[in-house]
Amino acid sequence: MLYIYKLKKENNQSKMSLSKFATSINCIDGRIQLLISNWIKQKYSVDYVDVITHPGSDKVMAEKNIDRIAEIKSKVVISINAHNSKLVVVSGHHDCAANLSTKDIHVIQIRKSINIVKSWRLQVSVVGLWINDQWEIEQVQE
Ligand SMILES: [Zn+2]
Repeated sequence: MLYIYKLKKENNQSKMSLSKFATSINCIDGRIQLLISNWIKQKYSVDYVDVITHPGSDKVMAEKNIDRIAEIKSKVVISINAHNSKLVVVSGHHDCAANLSTKDIHVIQIRKSINIVKSWRLQVSVVGLWINDQWEIEQVQE
């Protein structure tokens, strides 16, 4: 039994090391978690999405709150170093309790978020998403 268990564990470990990860910085809102993760998995053919949440993350990034951005960055770096993530996704969403801005303002904040993540020079692609009032994902162009 022990032997079989060990074999299974090793198989799992080797599978894990081959798994592809992406990283998402998004709001804490429960309505968007699976939506964003599943979209990223399908679109970029990754197995797992590491999620870094903060209420109204697009606003936090755009308002240049240095302490909070440093905290978010440290979590992104863990995801990249531990899981070899090659993609960081930033987003904002409709009906955000922590960011009651209009869509236009959200989109500006998402663009600013993209630029902040790019300024970290982490050798990753950076993508921005807007989750609209139909709970659909729109890609935000830079
Ligand atoms: Zn929100």
